[in-house]
Amino acid sequence: MRNYRISCSAAKPPNRPGGTALLLDDGIDADGLHMGRMGGFGLFPALALWYQFALLNKRCAMSPLRILLLAILSAAWAVPAISSAEAPRAAHVVLVSIDGLRPEFYLDSQWPAPLIQQMAVEGAHAEAVRGIFPSVTYPSHATIVTGAMPARHGIAYNSPFEPDGQTGRWYWEFDALRSTTLWEIAGEAGYTTANISWPTTVGAPIDYNIPQIWPLDGSIDRVGIVRERENPEGFLAELERGATGALTDQVFRMGDLTLEDRTGAMAAYTLETHKPNFMTVHHVHTDHYQHRHGRDGPMVRRAVAAVDRAIGQMIDAAARAGILEQTTFIVTGDHGFVDIHTQLAPNTWLVDAGLMEAEDDRGDWRATFHTTGAAAFLHLRDPDDASTLAEVRAILDDLPPAQRRLFRIVERDELDAVGTAPAAAFALSPKPGVTVSARATGQPIASAEGGTHGYFPDFDNIHTGFIAWGAGVKSGAVAPIIGMEDIAPLIAALLGLEFETPDGVLYPGLLSD
Ligand SMILES: [Zn+2]
Repeated sequence: MRNYRISCSAAKPPNRPGGTALLLDDGIDADGLHMGRMGGFGLFPALALWYQFALLNKRCAMSPLRILLLAILSAAWAVPAISSAEAPRAAHVVLVSIDGLRPEFYLDSQWPAPLIQQMAVEGAHAEAVRGIFPSVTYPSHATIVTGAMPARHGIAYNSPFEPDGQTGRWYWEFDALRSTTLWEIAGEAGYTTANISWPTTVGAPIDYNIPQIWPLDGSIDRVGIVRERENPEGFLAELERGATGALTDQVFRMGDLTLEDRTGAMAAYTLETHKPNFMTVHHVHTDHYQHRHGRDGPMVRRAVAAVDRAIGQMIDAAARAGILEQTTFIVTGDHGFVDIHTQLAPNTWLVDAGLMEAEDDRGDWRATFHTTGAAAFLHLRDPDDASTLAEVRAILDDLPPAQRRLFRIVERDELDAVGTAPAAAFALSPKPGVTVSARATGQPIASAEGGTHGYFPDFDNIHTGFIAWGAGVKSGAVAPIIGMEDIAPLIAALLGLEFETPDGVLYPGLLSD
């Protein structure tokens, strides 16, 4: 990765619609680059900003003339009315999520991921990222792009709780998000945004958007339903022409590693062609195969290798586009993984007690467990129904000790403390190795195999990882552990965006001086 040679002329301000002329447009810059309240001094900070971008190319030696110019422009920065937001360190941030990323993928060279292992060494990384509860995909991805916990951003489960029975739909639509996202603050600043398959992006205000959604009718036609929700119209066809070849349901589906190659090619093409300032990318097979075969299944190794190569495509594309030196790559994930051997079905206890029925619509129900991964959340039809709540507690208290010790109750005050699931009375988090099922029939305990996640995130195997590499990153910085909600503030700081993330904290020690 040290072989790329980028000329000084490649350094430039962020790509903005309409080009650099917008740098002088007060209406854009007042919000985007935090030079509001500058009045007639707007030109100087704009030039200073441009020059800071020029300096991002570290191979450009500082001539005496440049030092003088910098001194003059720095004086312009000293105008007291400048807001507290920092200047951008990067013109482009590519945020890659490896679903089910475990830190050993990049910390242990036994894993077939030479690129992200090199990025971790050359850039900054965390030895662990403490996720959220439930440690499942959609709530976690929402936290990554909002810096907010689920109770605030509104995505507490993969699937919304549907009182009359689950239809199978997930939180696909952007409208469900109640916290401001990085795409929005980037867009408001005049930056170009892009997305390939990040969760909860259907209808999102993203300039180039391939959202994640799949059909509920049992068909495998993912291509058609995605194409209907792309932005702009024709973008997927453009990607097919320029990057992937014709996308069919055979190469654009879960269970075929080719999807990772296609995802990488789409992201690489988008980066090279449209040069978005902020792009999100979501890779799914590392999750898929850990679910099927557990943490160390052979297909997990192939999936890790496929994602490593896909990220390589993106870096190569940034180099071809001449933007690599101004680009930061963030590689992170949404949860770790736990091998499982046993399944609990807590709704069978409620059926036995007459609190719900074993029907798709739950029948005449008063209490039900909504499951998401290895976590179950108790919903009451009437949230104030204290007697039903007491009845459920009595059922759990009366379980045989051998069953009762397979899970712990996460009480409402603890859910509040970690900011999640505001509609649940309490939650069950099973012991590692045990998962939960939504089924309401059969035995309460059954065998299980493969792997899962969703547990309360307080042990090593459930943690995910984080790497930052490229522009603005402090080389060699290592954080023992960060929070998932701390990633958005870091990305905002890299892009010079003011973003008051409600729950995340900025770690300046991961950024270059
Ligand atoms: Zn996931």
